[in-house]
Amino acid sequence: MESVENKVRATIAKYKMFDFDDRIAVAVSGGKDSVSLLHILAKIERNYPKASLLAVSVDEGIAGYRDEALKIAGENCKKLGVEHHVISFKELYGFTLDEIVYKLRRSGESELTPCAYCGVLRRKALNLIARKVDAGKLATAHTLDDEAQTVLLNMLHGDVLRITREKPVTDETHPKLIRRVKPFCEIPEKETALFAYARKVKFQAIPCPYAPEALRNDVRLFLNRMEEKHAGIKYTVFKAAEKIRLAVEKTAGSEILRECSQCGEPTAQSICKACEMLQRIKA
Ligand code: SF4
Ligand code: ZN
Repeated sequence: MESVENKVRATIAKYKMFDFDDRIAVAVSGGKDSVSLLHILAKIERNYPKASLLAVSVDEGIAGYRDEALKIAGENCKKLGVEHHVISFKELYGFTLDEIVYKLRRSGESELTPCAYCGVLRRKALNLIARKVDAGKLATAHTLDDEAQTVLLNMLHGDVLRITREKPVTDETHPKLIRRVKPFCEIPEKETALFAYARKVKFQAIPCPYAPEALRNDVRLFLNRMEEKHAGIKYTVFKAAEKIRLAVEKTAGSEILRECSQCGEPTAQSICKACEMLQRIKA
């Protein structure tokens, strides 16, 4: 089997993910995928003297989970000699994720899960920290499994147009939005796990306490069952999204972004999703 490192190099070349002098921020959560990506990109980057690599992490504030993950992320960065920057929900938004979940449960809010809040707030936090450290690209460790799950989730949420926004390399749509790249987008999670075990890379193995509540979990199980019966189905879903994306881009064009009236961050609406969610909590 071709090595994960070679596959990553091929994916980076195929989608033209980086320039030779890029300043790359790798989003590192401390889980196996992100830590493996950090190790692989650190190795590749050594061949590009004009490029630089650093790691960014978000502390959502999840007791008994995120502290350990951040410690592991920090240890890996130290081992590789990579700068590590952390930003927290508490400092950015005034609440930890645990506090947000407590408030949601107390108010009887059942429409959105903790992951729905976490995903939107973390996306914004990652963009802010990547911008703060002057990164030109933000690399995330989304695997083929994550990508296929996201396609189905967007369908299940009825948000088909979102498929056009999720791509291996995001377009330059707003000066405040750091371009995101996904070097693992064609690599199955099984292989990133194998890389981490084979290289004895230290990662956090326990799952987030909120994960079982997420619809993504059901979709993950479904796709794994399908892949067992029909090998290659995750890749088919990933490629199908690419075709939908191309067709939609041809007819609808790209989305125009403006700045959120509350926080000034890029958004397609007058208020960004993160500010809208935080307003709900404060109400
Ligand atoms: Fe956030 Fe959900 Fe992931 Fe936990 S499982 S870190 S709540 S998105
Ligand atoms: Zn906002």
